[in-house]
Order: sequence, then C-alpha cells, then structure tokens
Amino acid sequence: MWSIHNHLLLLIAVTCCALFQPLHAAWISGEEAIMGTKVSVQLWHQDKSQGEAAVQAVMEEFRRLDKKLSPYIEHSELALVNRMAASEPVVISEEFYRLLETSHVYSELTKGAFDITFASIGHRYDYRKGVKPSDSTIDTALPLIDYRNIRLAAANRTVSFEKPGVRIDLGGIAKGYAVDRGIELLQQRGIGHALISAGGDSRLLGDHRGRPWHIGIQAPRDKERMAAMLPLVDNAISTSGDYERFFERDGVRYHHIISPKTGRSAGTLQSVTIIGPNATRTDALSTSVFVLGAEKGMALVNRLEDIDAVIIDEDGEMITSDGFTDAGSQ
Ligand code: ADP
Ligand code: MG
Repeated sequence: MWSIHNHLLLLIAVTCCALFQPLHAAWISGEEAIMGTKVSVQLWHQDKSQGEAAVQAVMEEFRRLDKKLSPYIEHSELALVNRMAASEPVVISEEFYRLLETSHVYSELTKGAFDITFASIGHRYDYRKGVKPSDSTIDTALPLIDYRNIRLAAANRTVSFEKPGVRIDLGGIAKGYAVDRGIELLQQRGIGHALISAGGDSRLLGDHRGRPWHIGIQAPRDKERMAAMLPLVDNAISTSGDYERFFERDGVRYHHIISPKTGRSAGTLQSVTIIGPNATRTDALSTSVFVLGAEKGMALVNRLEDIDAVIIDEDGEMITSDGFTDAGSQ
C-alpha cells in the first residue's frame, strides 16, 4: 500500500534524477524552406519543449530577415531601396545600414570581387527559366556594377545610388548573416551545442557533445557524393558552387555568381568552401573567392589569419589553404 513515506521516497528519487540527469535531454531538430533554401537547425537541450521553441525562434528570425532582404518581396526594405535610391536618399533601418557597411568592407577587402551592385545585371538573369541578358545589354549596364555607386550617409542613416539603374542584392551575404543571428538567439537561450545551416552556409555552436561535428563538401558534379568531410567545432563554413543555380546554353554554364568586371558568370571554379569564425564572413568570402579564382582567391585566404579554404577547380582537383598543411605537419 502507498504511504506518505513511499511518496516522499519517490519524490526524492525523481528530484535526484532531475538534478543529476536531465529527464528529457535530447537532440532536437527542425527543417523549413525559407530564403529560397533549406534551413535546418539541430540543437541539444535539457528540455524538449524549450528546445523546440528555440528551433522555432530561429525559423522566425529567418522569416523576418527574408521579408526584409528578399529582392522578390515587393515591400522588402531591399526592394524599396532598389526602387527609390537612385532618385533620393532613402532612410533605412539600422540593421540594413550595418549590412550595407559590412558589404562595403568585403568589397574593399576583395578589391571589388564582392559587390552587391552585381544585381544591376544579375537581376536580368532567370536561372530557372534559362533567361539571360544579351551581350549588348550587359555591356551597356556594366558601369552600373560598382560598389562605389552606393552612397551611405551615417548621420541620417540613408543610402542613395549614384546612377539610375543601379540595383543591389544581398544574396551573397544574407544567409550567412541570418545563420549568425540564429546562433546568437540560441546562445542567449543558454544553448551550447547546435548546428544551423541555410543551404551552403552553416555555423556550429560548440561540438557534437564530446566529438566534432562533421560537415561535408559536396562533390560538385555528383550530388550523391561528398568530396570531403571536415571535422569542425565552433566554426562557420560556407560553400559557393557553380552547380546550385545554373543553366547551360551552347556548352556554356550560366550560374548565379557574377564577376563584377564582366557582368557574366564568374571564372572557372566548381566550388569554393570557406571555414572561419562566423557565417557572415564565410558567406561573403566564399562568393568572393569564387569570383577571384584559385590563384588570387587562395592568396587572399592565406593572408587572412582566421580563414581557411578548400577550392575544387575546373578539373575537379582539390586545392587547400596553408592552414590545412600547417595542421598536418604539426
Ligand atoms: P548560395 O546563394 O548558393 O549560398 P553564394 O553564397 O555563393 O551561394 O551566393 C551566391 C549569391 O550571391 C548569388 O545568388 C547572388 O545573389 C550573390 N552574388 C552573385 N555574385 C556576387 C558578387 N560578385 N558579389 C556579391 N554577391 C554576389
Ligand atoms: Mg556566399
């Protein structure tokens, strides 16, 4: 028969369990299509419902940023800027202003390989429908691609464009930024082990409970195969490839990474993977190194102390940055 004594013993046993071994600690995950890509979150939490709420908070943050930054949403802040900024200075949100400043930093760092005004021509491609601008359209519009066509005024927090026809797009940095924002939200909730990825941009919080996370680099010409697996802890990793959004015409591959110098699909590489401290940085640099090509791109990576890279060149050969050789020879 149950007595108060038994109840007390049971209570003590349950309390001990709760103190020393969380009852429902588990990996919790979620996946949604946002920002034109697959967003996935995986995290370790002591409490299932709080863990699920954290996954939802990350998804909500991605949706918020998509509404603000998408070129396809008519009332996004980005669309508004593209409509207005050639006629008058447009007052923008602090967050948008900071993103434009960050983009400017990467344009300078990469000597113009990273350039959000690529969209002045880039927006005339439709990769799904196989639509591309004519050579003469590209040549006429080419002077519009130049990050120096963007004027920022910190005092009023405004942006304006120097020339009519200039367009911007944050597709080369927005997903990385959203991943970083998501990781920040998880940290604020005390979460220590997590992975957030948005298409080719991922960031890891902590390790995979006692062992590293393993992130694969896809073989660019074989969707079923990984070209490499990298063990990572507390890092961000981004891959830019010529195989994500493209069409082929007369043997030419038209893909979504645009060389600001030519207004056409950049270079000859198959993919560039960048490993670094945060996903905004790895996202911007993976697009940039893709544009720069193997030689100039790797030279830049090897100058940056916090960055490593794996390039897969036009022959499918893998080229790694100095950080890999240094690590191997220690
Ligand atoms: P993904 O979008 O597949 O993750 P990337 O990170 O390489 O791939 O970003 C490619 C996107 O970056 C393009 O879809 C486009 O929005 C944008 N972009 C293309 N060329 C440039 C460039 N030269 N500078 C900055 N952004 C670019
Ligand atoms: Mg990128």
